[in-house]
Amino acid sequence: LFLDDALAEGAERHGTAAQAHHLGTVLRRGVGEAVRVFNARDGEFAATIAHLRKDRCAFALGPRLRAPGPEPDLRLVVAALKRDALDWVVEKATELGVSVIQPVLTRRTVAERVNTERLSAIARGAAEQCERLSVPALRPAMPLHRALDGWDGAPLLVAAERRGAAPVASVASGLRLPCGWLVGPEGGFEGAELDDATRRAFVTAVALGPRILRAETAAVAGLAVLQALAGD
Ligand code: SAM
Repeated sequence: LFLDDALAEGAERHGTAAQAHHLGTVLRRGVGEAVRVFNARDGEFAATIAHLRKDRCAFALGPRLRAPGPEPDLRLVVAALKRDALDWVVEKATELGVSVIQPVLTRRTVAERVNTERLSAIARGAAEQCERLSVPALRPAMPLHRALDGWDGAPLLVAAERRGAAPVASVASGLRLPCGWLVGPEGGFEGAELDDATRRAFVTAVALGPRILRAETAAVAGLAVLQALAGD
């Protein structure tokens, strides 16, 4: 269970209403049962359920099981896809170890709003399920050009299905983290938009083969490749 508060052996810490519901109603767990709690700052601790009500829970922390360590800085910048697709991408990207998820609004973005809180909850659930210590930072959606203007200069690979994009294998040998993966919306990037992105020195257009992938497939497939090549 991910807990935001400082964790230490001997401490008692409260969980969220969602965690109380999940433990009591979904998993049918009870007071005194063993759980594990974690965050990226303090690591992972053995714990027992000290209190459990419908919407409240608390844990008594035992010994530390895992110390925090360095986490790969692989970032996903993804067009605001339709809700189910974006939910799925956030879950899978979390499993694949991304540090940051930045939804962006592109010229052909059709999704009208992005619920950052809901996506953060999905990321938290996925982090708990896959036993990573950190939960990716979910940034509020912003226009693509603003995300590019504010980028720190780490290499950013843009998923581009055509127009002379380099095969991903051709960039593999020089790939190091931190690094970002930028994926377009259901209808793809507009030509001028892609040109504007690739004019920046830190951006390289990369193709994942000759087939047109759904945006969510491109997001997850690309992250798996980058994680395998440069991450851990
Ligand atoms: N409507 C667009 C077209 O037919 O040209 C297709 C857009 S595709 C469904 C959505 C996004 O997935 C693209 O903007 C791109 O970022 C990514 N993508 C799809 N296929 C890809 C491939 N083979 N290599 C790299 N990225 C790809």
